[in-house]
Amino acid sequence: MTETAARPAPAVTDLNRDFWTGGGNGKLLIQRCECGRWVHPPAPTCPACGGGALRPEAVSGRGRVFTYTVNRHPFDPSVPVPYVIAVVEPVEQPGLRITTNIVNCPVDSVRIGMEVQVLFEPQGELYIPLFEPAEGPL
Ligand code: ZN
Repeated sequence: MTETAARPAPAVTDLNRDFWTGGGNGKLLIQRCECGRWVHPPAPTCPACGGGALRPEAVSGRGRVFTYTVNRHPFDPSVPVPYVIAVVEPVEQPGLRITTNIVNCPVDSVRIGMEVQVLFEPQGELYIPLFEPAEGPL
C-alpha cells in the first residue's frame, strides 16, 4: 500500500545520490565519517570533526519516530491526502534524523517514539526511503 504513489521526485545531487539510490540494493545509505559519525542530510564535511572523508554506509533501516505531522491539505492535487510527514531517528545514532513519510498504517496510529523500519518506493532510477511500523522489537 503506497497511498502516495504520486510523490514528487527529490532533487538528486552528487552528495545525496547514494541516499536516493541505495534502495535498489535494499540498503539505506547514510554518509559516515572516518570518526564514526553518521551525517544526514548529506554534507561535504563532518559536523563533528570537520573531516571531509565521508562515505556512504548502510544503516539497519530501523529507528523511531522523533516527530511527525499529518498533512490533510492537498498542497499538490496529484498527491492523495492524508499522509504522514515524519522525522525518523535511526537506531545507529541519537540525533541522526531523516525526514520521510510513514506508510502502511492508518495516519492516526502514528506516535512519537513509534518503532519503524525502512522500505523503498521505486521511482525511476531512484528508491525513495519511506518508513512503516517495525516488525518485532528494534
Ligand atoms: Zn568526523
